[in-house]
Amino acid sequence: MAQTADVVIIGGGVTGTSLAYHLADRGVKNIVVVEKKFLAAGGTGHSVGIIRQLYPTREARQMVLRSLRVFQHFRELIGGESGYVGCGALIGISKVMLPTLRRSMETQAELGIRAEVLTPEEAHRIEPRIDPEGVAGLLYEPESGYGDPTGVTLGYARAARDRGVRIEQGVEVTAIRVAGSRVLGVDLASGESVDAPVIVNAAGLWACFVARFAHVELPIVVGRHPVFVVRRPPDFGAAHPVYLDLAGGTYVKPELGDLTLTGSLTEDEARHPMDPERLGGGVSFEEAALALERTSRAVPSLASGAYQRGYAGAFDITPDWMPILDESPVKGFYVAAGFSGHGFKLAPAVGEMMAELITSGRTTINRAPFRLDRFTEGRPARSSFVSSYLAP
Ligand SMILES: Cc1cc2nc3c(=O)[nH]c(=O)nc-3n(C[C@H](O)[C@H](O)[C@H](O)COP(=O)(O)OP(=O)(O)OC[C@H]3O[C@@H](n4cnc5c(N)ncnc54)[C@H](O)[C@@H]3O)c2cc1C
Repeated sequence: MAQTADVVIIGGGVTGTSLAYHLADRGVKNIVVVEKKFLAAGGTGHSVGIIRQLYPTREARQMVLRSLRVFQHFRELIGGESGYVGCGALIGISKVMLPTLRRSMETQAELGIRAEVLTPEEAHRIEPRIDPEGVAGLLYEPESGYGDPTGVTLGYARAARDRGVRIEQGVEVTAIRVAGSRVLGVDLASGESVDAPVIVNAAGLWACFVARFAHVELPIVVGRHPVFVVRRPPDFGAAHPVYLDLAGGTYVKPELGDLTLTGSLTEDEARHPMDPERLGGGVSFEEAALALERTSRAVPSLASGAYQRGYAGAFDITPDWMPILDESPVKGFYVAAGFSGHGFKLAPAVGEMMAELITSGRTTINRAPFRLDRFTEGRPARSSFVSSYLAP
């Protein structure tokens, strides 16, 4: 491996590869992506891949809209397949959240996000298989849906390679060399080192470990989020849209063939810390039964589906469930992590924002809500995944 680089990116998930592409596209030379396993081996390869546009802040909405446009035109813009399916997303809202949703509709429209609030009866007409009981209103986003996180990662990786980026798989960073308050380079498990003035921590679920190499503490907890796979019953009919029931605490996403992915939207994953090495591990029968019961309340005809399997996913969660996109107090050491279970849908805009930050110090979208020092400014911590949809 080359002994020097202009930028070393640690992590070959959707964040690291998107950033590599955007840096190379902006003319940065000598970029190395270092991935300890293989591309998309981390959270990316275990992701559900849902794309929704409801976010609590203007900046996050801008980011997701920018990303959506890239997913929609991925082949022309980046090359490869994003797997985008614009099946639409319905988001079930409780009575207490409804006024906040209505207020947020103004910025949605201003930014060009297509969305409308439906009554339960109107939603039932669009998708009769959904039971909106307990839901006061539903947000309908016709352009939302899902994509393929591994496909997007490979697309960015290929486009980055075509622009001269070196992508090293099976190569683990074991130390970051720092002098004073500036990074000098990384040491690898092989015993080699790479000197670089810029190092980016895009290590997802391992971001805290990697940050500690540079003596930086990140306010990130790795929390367990199990996912369950159900085969839809033969008489179910065409695939359903994405349904995120924030009131009932469940989601469903159609998967290839006649499969549906489902999981919980009620848990505070931060209260279930997990060793990231256990990613992809098994789930208990009891937790599957509980999750599937909730799913069947939201989509009753899935009750007669066949449970196939479950696996332990995990989120890298910050106190406000929004990512950290910033330079750390160690000069040249940047962080793009803490995606809190929604980093796939933001990845194109995240790569672009980080590339702007690294090359010019300025970003097109206001980066303030993603700064690391927001956690030292005494902001109240939020408590669950739902806070990444609507401000409390
Ligand atoms: C079960 C689940 C469901 C999800 N559902 C959605 C969803 O519906 N919609 C959505 O938008 N997002 C979703 N997400 C979140 C999204 O998938 C992640 O936020 C995103 O994929 C994170 O990408 P990343 O590149 O930041 O991290 P990762 O994909 O975790 O990549 C980090 C990489 O760093 C590597 N690495 C770690 N340490 C080192 C080291 N020392 N040296 C070298 N390499 C190292 C790892 O091997 C890993 O490949 C979900 C995630 C999970 C797990």
